[in-house]
Amino acid sequence: MTSLNLLMLGPPGAGKGTQAERFARIRGIPKISTGDILREAVHTGTEIGLRAKRIMDRGELVGDDVMIGIVKERLDRPDALAGFVLDDFPRTVAQATALDEIMAGRGPLIVLDIVVPESELARRLDMRMICENCGTNADGNEPTGVCRMCHGRLIQRPDDSSAVVLERFKIYQRATKPLVEFYRNRPTFRSINGAQAPDSVTADLAAAIEAVGNGRVNGAGGDRGR
Ligand code: AMP
Repeated sequence: MTSLNLLMLGPPGAGKGTQAERFARIRGIPKISTGDILREAVHTGTEIGLRAKRIMDRGELVGDDVMIGIVKERLDRPDALAGFVLDDFPRTVAQATALDEIMAGRGPLIVLDIVVPESELARRLDMRMICENCGTNADGNEPTGVCRMCHGRLIQRPDDSSAVVLERFKIYQRATKPLVEFYRNRPTFRSINGAQAPDSVTADLAAAIEAVGNGRVNGAGGDRGR
């Protein structure tokens, strides 16, 4: 395989961001998270950020055209040519279809679906803290309540409040879950049990990536899937 193009699929709280960060670091490829890009836009007060904030606060999805434009521009940057880890995108079938077009001729897309029961997701989101300054997820080892990266204050994400989480789950079921069917029959699709310790999830993901890359599972050649 020439480039390592990873896509993390799964509901809010599945651990996509944490795992995406690890693989980006280990493999030396950029983590591209549309949630992070939007939060950064909100933080700096750009026009997209101002419009997105209202939608994000309600737990709804930002429009497909805006999201596709953001991702196309990001994937065309030189640092993404050797590979990337996509997290938070696609969230709709329209976005997934657009991603296939963007990826044409760029090597296979390995789709990793992280599966976690909804009761566990709700528990994780309720406990999740992020840095209000740089957006880093707290890992639970910050006794003073400050970010380990930049020493910013740790807060609950506004859209992790229980009312908004319910809305996000509903939207996930309606708009994003169909992506599992969209990708399931591709030789580069794998489901991973996300209800394990983070290190075990990382190990399972690494094994799945390796298997897809070697074309060992399903007898599929690594370059055959998109
Ligand atoms: P997340 O960090 O994945 O939970 O994303 C936070 C919020 O950003 C979501 O609830 C959406 O409002 C918005 N968002 C992030 N990625 C997308 C996307 N691919 N399509 C639409 N909205 C998105």
